[in-house]
Amino acid sequence: MLSAINKKTLPESTHEDAFDRLFIHEKISGQQAYLQAVDDTKKMIADTIRVMKVPYCGESAASIEEMIRGMRMATEGGEDLQEVLKDVEKMLLHSIQVNHKACIAHLHCPPLIPALAAEMVISAYNQSMDSWDQSSAATYLEEELIQWLCRRLGLESRADGTFTSGGTQSNYMGLLLARDAFCDKHWNWNVQKKGLPPSAGKLRILCSKEAHFTVKKSASQLGLGEEAVIQVETDSSCRLSLTDLEQKLRNLKTENLLPFALVGTCGTTDFGSIDPLNEMADAARTNGLWFHVDAAYGGALLLSKNEFYKLQGIERADSVTADFHKLFYQPISCGAFFLKDKRNFNYLNYHADYLNPEEDEQEGLRHLVNKSVQTTRRFDALKLFMSLRSVGIKQFGEMVDHTIELALQTSKQMQKSSGFTVINPLPELNAIVFRYEHPVVKDNCELNREIHRAMLHSGKAVLAKTVHKGRVCLKFTLLNPRTSIEDIKEMLHEIEELGESLHRNGGHL
Ligand SMILES: *Cc1c(COP(=O)(O)O)cnc(C)c1O
Repeated sequence: MLSAINKKTLPESTHEDAFDRLFIHEKISGQQAYLQAVDDTKKMIADTIRVMKVPYCGESAASIEEMIRGMRMATEGGEDLQEVLKDVEKMLLHSIQVNHKACIAHLHCPPLIPALAAEMVISAYNQSMDSWDQSSAATYLEEELIQWLCRRLGLESRADGTFTSGGTQSNYMGLLLARDAFCDKHWNWNVQKKGLPPSAGKLRILCSKEAHFTVKKSASQLGLGEEAVIQVETDSSCRLSLTDLEQKLRNLKTENLLPFALVGTCGTTDFGSIDPLNEMADAARTNGLWFHVDAAYGGALLLSKNEFYKLQGIERADSVTADFHKLFYQPISCGAFFLKDKRNFNYLNYHADYLNPEEDEQEGLRHLVNKSVQTTRRFDALKLFMSLRSVGIKQFGEMVDHTIELALQTSKQMQKSSGFTVINPLPELNAIVFRYEHPVVKDNCELNREIHRAMLHSGKAVLAKTVHKGRVCLKFTLLNPRTSIEDIKEMLHEIEELGESLHRNGGHL
């Protein structure tokens, strides 16, 4: 075992011997070094999770910063991994414990164990998905999993897709292809070769006010500018308003502007609201718009028995964003982009002699770089594959259903108490936005801000904070299927106690 092989007691070794212990390879020395490193690391991880009983240690940002800034970055001679792991352990004990049941702030999930096992395979084999000769068998596995997902989404036989780094990249790809397809069809203009066409300033994208900020960010990166994004009003449930969509489309026509894409959000980041996808697909067809569905959050309903119906209309999208590092419980990063008609991937196609020469394609070799904005790319498909195979569709669906049910119960529980106002009492997914209200305090904003801070620093819960109609709100994002209504009741009780004592002490604990 390597830990027994203390560097100092080892006989003088040749260069080759020294490098042998740094890699995993055909010789037993490399395999042993790997096994030892993994054993030590996994034990350290399990230990930190066992001793951390709370979702956050509670220490101030300043003291953690000081501790980390004091760490050695490298020494000339290197150190035993065990020694390095001591510092890593210290860091982990001062990190957010995303695996904890009371860590319910963001769309940030506890990762599934089979996916953690997959990460070991992904990193050890270090395949790159850009060219066939860097990923051979993995190329086909990613393609098969994409096809399986396309079928579940109800996309037609011409559909295809790719794994991405997440929703940001997938949304960017959707709008990039939408822009290029429009310029090609409308002006016979090749954006890839010639850049933006002379009338690009007239191009417009429509989405709801609650759409993810990456729609604007993409517009800006695509040379259209943020102002090319027209924000449609939302209804009382934070879903895109169809009446306002029609109005906005009429306005654009009178102004002689050119809408080319409509983005539907399936699961808004704040409330988990789902836009009326079917009606939006109709509007997109009537107006000749590319229909992109951002299902980064809501895409998880794909495997749900009870809630699958909420995705209706997604099968009519021209492109779809899905994120597996949210409700599919995958370690970061893991996302996907789907395309109804794979021919649109041609707008991304480049041939590099060293990587994906055209002659290879004529021979039938697959190079996935043709479907991605990335070049070197991780084999993230493996972790979803191992998770789906191991957990099974039924339990996957049950996990998601449980969290949605929990959000409903939480909402009911809050409504029983006068201390809470629930902003979205009937959540479509598993996010609950609410405010703690104190009967005497007029401005509850500061109070809610304080509660958020106090919950974190007492290690009781990691909650999110957001602003709704100009007022500070708290938010539970209930991704963890292990969180129970009992856990929630305890947290609500804690919030009420905090609110009471903050009020008594004039806003201070
Ligand atoms: C999280 C999220 C994104 C961004 O995805 P990343 O994986 O963080 O890049 C986009 N859209 C929605 C609706 C999201 O919830």
